[in-house]
Amino acid sequence: MATHTTDVLVLGSGIAGLSAALGAARNGADVTLATKATRPEGASTWWAQGGIAVARKEPEAFKRDIDAASSGTSAPAALDVLVQEADRAVHDVLIDTLGVGFDTEEDAFDYGREAAHSADRILHVDASTGRHIHIPFLNYLAEHDRVTIHDDTAAVDLLAGDGRVSGAWLESGGTVTPWRAGATIVATGGIGALYGQSTNPGGATGDGLAMAVRAGAEIDDLEYVQFHPTVCVASGDPFLVSEAVRGEGALLRNARGERFMPEVHEDAELAPRDVVARAVEREHRATGKVFLDVSPLDFAGTFPDLAALCDENGVDPSGGIPVVPAEHFLCGGIDVDTWGRASLNRLYAVGECARTGVHGANRLASTSLLEGLVWGLRAGTDAAERAPMSPGEREEASSVRGTVEEVDAAFDEVKRAMDAHVSLRRSADGLRQALDTLRSVKQAVQARARPLPRSAAELRSAVTVGALIAEAALANETSVGCHYRTDIPASEVVAADG
Ligand SMILES: Cc1cc2nc3c(=O)[nH]c(=O)nc-3n(C[C@H](O)[C@H](O)[C@H](O)COP(=O)(O)OP(=O)(O)OC[C@H]3O[C@@H](n4cnc5c(N)ncnc54)[C@H](O)[C@@H]3O)c2cc1C
Repeated sequence: MATHTTDVLVLGSGIAGLSAALGAARNGADVTLATKATRPEGASTWWAQGGIAVARKEPEAFKRDIDAASSGTSAPAALDVLVQEADRAVHDVLIDTLGVGFDTEEDAFDYGREAAHSADRILHVDASTGRHIHIPFLNYLAEHDRVTIHDDTAAVDLLAGDGRVSGAWLESGGTVTPWRAGATIVATGGIGALYGQSTNPGGATGDGLAMAVRAGAEIDDLEYVQFHPTVCVASGDPFLVSEAVRGEGALLRNARGERFMPEVHEDAELAPRDVVARAVEREHRATGKVFLDVSPLDFAGTFPDLAALCDENGVDPSGGIPVVPAEHFLCGGIDVDTWGRASLNRLYAVGECARTGVHGANRLASTSLLEGLVWGLRAGTDAAERAPMSPGEREEASSVRGTVEEVDAAFDEVKRAMDAHVSLRRSADGLRQALDTLRSVKQAVQARARPLPRSAAELRSAVTVGALIAEAALANETSVGCHYRTDIPASEVVAADG
């Protein structure tokens, strides 16, 4: 079987993967980007609505808001990086390189505000910001000399051994092929497909997280799964009604037409997401319905995209938009440092599958696109600097043959290695050589032993990640942020929720 090689292998084509590819390519690496998406809509990035936050001239206030939304659990070093790099990255990549036309008012950017932000700092394009970033980004990289994009191509496992990752197994058209890389950047997004209701696209099955765990990478904060409070579930597909709508004055009411958020939190409808989501769920259960009253604002004029979505789904906003909470974002993930480096050598993780520490126990609105952009660029830059494949490595990689398709040949290889190095006479060097062979064959055999169609591989990811989340939630006996235990509630949450 042919083995492919690349300097940097990026898995996933959302904002994090695209930024990583750009960062690596700008720094001279040859980049292969594999994505299981067949259309841009396969990434959450495309669906992002409200926008991307920047620091403007008040970085400390931005940090305070992120930290407050996380109940004081965000990591200070990660916050520093995010906020220091926010404006530069957005201007450099999104505005100057991609030409994203963020909304303006009187020749200045029309900065919006969302729940739990203390200032107007969110750049947006109407309420469909994601696609206005995602499409030009895909187009730009498709034309880039150093980047090759393979769509409809799913990573099924990492090539790992000796504490190092050296690429991934990629499945395309039912065939699984090893791709060796100097550095591997996992950017496979979220886990929405594990839940009945989610804002994420269907392919959000946690593949990257499951692969990284199988390879031995460290993970953290998996219990912090954020639910968005206002997802419209009318007759058509569920769709998110951005927090920006509440930012512009929309009110939450129960079936009796009563507002309930003022009793729950001093910021009422603009309280942190976890607080609003729990209150919406409670009122829905108690009264049978919760709706967004958009009468205080010019809904169609301010949010024409959302008005069109309502129309497509048979919802008349003048009668209120029916909403429920739905899974939205995983705050935890593959543990990484401020450069996106995971605990295994030459493995990086960026975007929603990564745990940078920015979000802690709960994420502030409009910070996820920014985190994917900033960490993607940093990881790509670092990967390019650390991991070009030497000519020797390229030859070695391309000489690996027959390990997946021909189990018999692989078995002979194992026997030869055992006979030569792990028999009556052994040496450190010989044992290391044998270990290399055994590990590489083990990976091949594992792939062969499970000739999984893509859907079964996704199920394997989902059950792996689901169990990890449940274990983390069981182990954490402190209700904080979006992790809330009814048997061990936090005092402030009890007060807020009544
Ligand atoms: C409806 C909605 C609205 C949102 N609004 C906002 C907002 O306004 N502002 C904000 O900051 N955030 C928002 N978010 C959150 C934000 O969009 C996401 O967290 C962010 O886009 C994640 O980016 P990502 O690159 O990590 O993942 P994604 O954009 O989800 O991309 C993941 C990619 O990985 C690919 N992939 C998955 N598994 C594999 C595999 N095994 N092999 C290869 N490829 C794989 C997928 O096909 C996809 O291309 C919103 C999310 C949703 C769903």
